[in-house]
Amino acid sequence: MKDYRKKLKRDVRVGKIGIGGNFPISIQSMTNTDTRDVSATVNQIIKLEEAGCEIVRVSTPDIESAKAIKAIKEHVNIPIVADIHFDYKIAIEAIKNGADKVRLNPGNIGSAEKVLEVVKVAKEYCVPIRVGANSGSINKKYEHLPKIDALVESALDEVRILEKAGFCDIVISLKSSDVLETVQANRKIHALVDYPLHIGVTEAGTLYNSLIKSSSALGTLLLEGIGDTIRISIAGDPINEVITAKKLLTFLKIRKGVDVVACPTCARTNFDVEEVALEVEKFLSNIEEDITVSVLGCVVNGVGEAKDSDVGIAGVKDGIAVFYKGEIIGTYQKEKAFEILKEKIELIIKERRG
Ligand code: SF4
Repeated sequence: MKDYRKKLKRDVRVGKIGIGGNFPISIQSMTNTDTRDVSATVNQIIKLEEAGCEIVRVSTPDIESAKAIKAIKEHVNIPIVADIHFDYKIAIEAIKNGADKVRLNPGNIGSAEKVLEVVKVAKEYCVPIRVGANSGSINKKYEHLPKIDALVESALDEVRILEKAGFCDIVISLKSSDVLETVQANRKIHALVDYPLHIGVTEAGTLYNSLIKSSSALGTLLLEGIGDTIRISIAGDPINEVITAKKLLTFLKIRKGVDVVACPTCARTNFDVEEVALEVEKFLSNIEEDITVSVLGCVVNGVGEAKDSDVGIAGVKDGIAVFYKGEIIGTYQKEKAFEILKEKIELIIKERRG
């Protein structure tokens, strides 16, 4: 697997997960339940965890939500980040109730004394703080600057407040809903600081928009070695965020995973390629091994694809041909072909795991 990061950042610990340094790039998401509703929030976190989420953020708008973190943590295994705005008392309460990290901007919680209070508790509980700026929270004093500089300077101000309070367990995020701004702002801050970076496109939109915006921005940054933890923001079910993040890291060869290659279909197509490809993806959704599976509508590209894939199927006139390790091992009717495909995939997983 590849790690494109060349500039070693400091690291922080968010519960059992490390961010920065030599720790692998982690996947984050955020619940959209009412945090005070412990059962709904736990259910959603468990689903996110099963999908591959490694750190989850919960909105913490009031003291009750902060207190709910304690009960939530009893039922989940991944670290929880409390998302705080404005009220330092909520941050303190969240930390005391088990939050593994807090996201807040010291600049919007008021006096230096209040920041010191939060820092004191964060230090005592060994909890890092994520600070930063997004296009909607640029510090007014930097509004005259070009957008990228304004984002960077706003984030650096937040960092300096914490540093002045003697706190360096920091993660920085700089987000915009614009792809180019996100890329440029992160390039800039990456060159200036050695704190780990949380990267993402903020308010990236609904599924298609976010897939394209997030993949182009985060793909660019990750290939340049920028970013230590990622969140793909998608309006709707947060499970999609985790699925997308996993695929992105897999396709960039940053972590192990399955690649299901499927042809776009054409007049030569001999079976429902999309249906089968989706079924194969579902079958392999939780497998973290490097396996390439081809699903092709016909054999025109079959031989070439078979060489690049571990296993695959291609439609022929009288059935479906199954490829395994570069060779056609037989032609079968649909049900049997799927059965053999799955058997071969399981065999490969077994081999890979020794
Ligand atoms: Fe068409 Fe065959 Fe190519 Fe699929 S693999 S797009 S069916 S030619």
